[in-house]
Amino acid sequence: MNNSLKFEPLFHKEVQQLQSRLSALSQSHEARKTALYESEQRFSLAMFGSDDGLWDWDLETDEIYYSPSWKKMLGYGDGELEASLNTWSSLVHKDDQEDALQSCRDYLNGNIDTYNHEMRMLHKNGSEVFIIARGFIVPPESEGQAIHFVGTHVDITARKKAEAYNDKNAEILEMIATGMPAATVYSAIALIYEGRHLGMRCSMLELHGNKLMHGGAPSLPNEYCTALHGIKNGPSVGSCGTSTYTGTRVVVENIDTDPKWQEIKHLALPHGIASCWSEPIKSSSGKVLGAFGMYYNHTGVPNEEQSQDLLSGARLAGIVMERDQAQKYIRELAYTDLLTGLASRAHFYQVIEEQINTFKGSDRRFGLLYIDLDDFKGVNDSLGHDIGDLLLKAIAKGLKRAAGESDFVARLSGDEFCILVEELDDYTAAYVAQRCLDIISEPVDVADRSLIPSCSIGIAYYPEDGENLSTLIKAADTTLYAAKELGKNQYTCYTKELTDKAEYRFQVEQYLKEAIEHQQLSLVYQPQFSVQTGEMIGVEALSRWYHPALGQVPPADFIPIAERIGMIKPLTEWVLYTACRQALEWKEQGQPALTMAVNISPSHFLDQEIVTLIKQVLDETCLNPAELELEVTESVVQTDQRNIRSFKTLKELGVKLAIDDFGTGYSSFSSLKHLNVDYLKIDKYFLDDMLEDKQALQLISSMIEMAQQLGYEIVAEGVENQQQLDILQRLGCEAAQGYFFSKPVSAQAISALRMSF
Ligand code: C2E
Ligand code: CA
Ligand code: CA
Repeated sequence: MNNSLKFEPLFHKEVQQLQSRLSALSQSHEARKTALYESEQRFSLAMFGSDDGLWDWDLETDEIYYSPSWKKMLGYGDGELEASLNTWSSLVHKDDQEDALQSCRDYLNGNIDTYNHEMRMLHKNGSEVFIIARGFIVPPESEGQAIHFVGTHVDITARKKAEAYNDKNAEILEMIATGMPAATVYSAIALIYEGRHLGMRCSMLELHGNKLMHGGAPSLPNEYCTALHGIKNGPSVGSCGTSTYTGTRVVVENIDTDPKWQEIKHLALPHGIASCWSEPIKSSSGKVLGAFGMYYNHTGVPNEEQSQDLLSGARLAGIVMERDQAQKYIRELAYTDLLTGLASRAHFYQVIEEQINTFKGSDRRFGLLYIDLDDFKGVNDSLGHDIGDLLLKAIAKGLKRAAGESDFVARLSGDEFCILVEELDDYTAAYVAQRCLDIISEPVDVADRSLIPSCSIGIAYYPEDGENLSTLIKAADTTLYAAKELGKNQYTCYTKELTDKAEYRFQVEQYLKEAIEHQQLSLVYQPQFSVQTGEMIGVEALSRWYHPALGQVPPADFIPIAERIGMIKPLTEWVLYTACRQALEWKEQGQPALTMAVNISPSHFLDQEIVTLIKQVLDETCLNPAELELEVTESVVQTDQRNIRSFKTLKELGVKLAIDDFGTGYSSFSSLKHLNVDYLKIDKYFLDDMLEDKQALQLISSMIEMAQQLGYEIVAEGVENQQQLDILQRLGCEAAQGYFFSKPVSAQAISALRMSF
């Protein structure tokens, strides 16, 4: 406080103005003066017996009378403190002094009507006391009498603290809601409570299993926090170790003497820590998540406010801990594949990106193995998803075994897996790929069945096949596709041609939809002959597509794509109508009836709609159902009840059914026994080898024999020469089809061919 104030009243100018204002008032309004005097009396009475502090400031001398409760509010006794303005101003918080003086000035000047001011003052113990000061002028009885500024002090610290606490609490909740790191929020919580209790220091510990881990304790010595980090909880392990163990509050009044601190007091005492109270932090379901601790450098037990704060601090920290754990769990969920325990796609992508960043600019390389199980869909469809899941788990284990310690294995989706292998020499990735093929093809026993899975693997290398995540994944995926096409159960490395192929496939996909919609496809017909009589007995309708940019696209290319993009149904519908109308046209031309064979894709055949479609086609074209033959591949022939139903209903319509490419799939004669099929078409693969390979011949011979006994007719596919035909004739084969007779040709060419026979 400025010394000059001692010689001249602080508000000299204001007092002079006030004096003239008041004397004017007193001369003209005697009644008002009386009222003011009466209010002063009431004021004194009101003060009597209240806790409020009373002050009386003689503005002319700057002497101030402070009542005993005024002094007590700040921790002083009645005999202490000088009755001067200096006392007041030195007790006002430094930062609040300017405002405090200004509000007095404003009131005395008449700028404001009431004096009502909030400020912080200093308690004798060094803490801050929030005060609200109110006051008014006591007018002089007569000219020249001292002017007094009298008023009260009310301690509003508790209310202020509560307000601040609520604000801070709201801040904490906001921090939690906006996903601030738990450690940051713990520190903020500690600071709130430390602000409320002078000399108190807070700590929050997380319980992981039975270990206490440091959460936050911004004011405790690092050395102490580090020493406690990782300590096991138990029935007698300090305050927090015990409270997390028992799930109840532990109050230790004196660390030095309390047996619970016996083992660890040497960690606390050197830092002056004397008492510690701990409240277990619990989740909303009551599970102990950690402990909230309050430390003092003096011994003692909590008062009511501290006790309350211990509880609310633990609750607040509990919200943070619970959220943090939930987030960690969610992250874990996103980062691991629950079924196999391998890394998830998201995690894998992140790891690849990290690896790229690490390897960038160096000459280190890595290989990306893209692995897909062969025919996994078949397992799921025929044996059910539970078995499928068991198989995937076994595969995951196998892949982990196949991969090296440092290789990263992930499951991307369904039956797709990936392995990241650092390419230490030129063979590391290829070696791992071969190990995967070997290990995966070991029989897997699931639910008392033995499955022999296989997989295909595409390998792409960083950086040569792709320099970023997406190009690399695309290259590996393209390569995988190629591995599948090459006949499965093998690995392939990425080449430029593969991209060209992928590009081509992409274009086919782009144009195919339009071509099907606009009926830009055409049909050719390949005749089938009776082996015994040499007579043409039927034709197989085969789709052709010529695209101006792509040229002639073979059905082996566009049929699988049509299946994938969901265009196979409109395609089949068009084929069925066109082929049946053609059959009818030939009949109308007076030619003897031929069987018209149409290929039906397995996925379409499995759909009940196929029955409706066939009925509709037969209705509209009035073709004799017995003259229509549907060819489906063996993959449809699983013991699945649904297929049997469509086989049955179609048979009831009177159409003929053929199993196409017989011998290449899984079906056996025994799996056919429930099905009422008419023909088995022996795949060209067997015919190709029949002249050189005795076993192939033996197989054909057995198939024919079995088929005859079971009542099926055999159609031999891909007959290319007279020798093959001779043997087939000898074996008793009924029908044959192949380039030896004719390639697939136009409808007119078929008519011409019939004339010539
Ligand atoms: P697929 O049903 O096994 O048809 C027989 C395929 O073998 C035809 O090929 C035919 O041209 C060929 N082929 C016949 N005899 C011989 C021979 O002696 N030697 C040789 N090297 N090949 C012969 P294409 O027309 O290329 O058809 C390939 C496959 O595309 C067909 O195999 C069939 O699965 C599918 N496909 C063709 N058109 C359609 C269709 O309209 N719908 C469906 N779902 N699939 C079709
Ligand atoms: Ca066929
Ligand atoms: Ca075939």
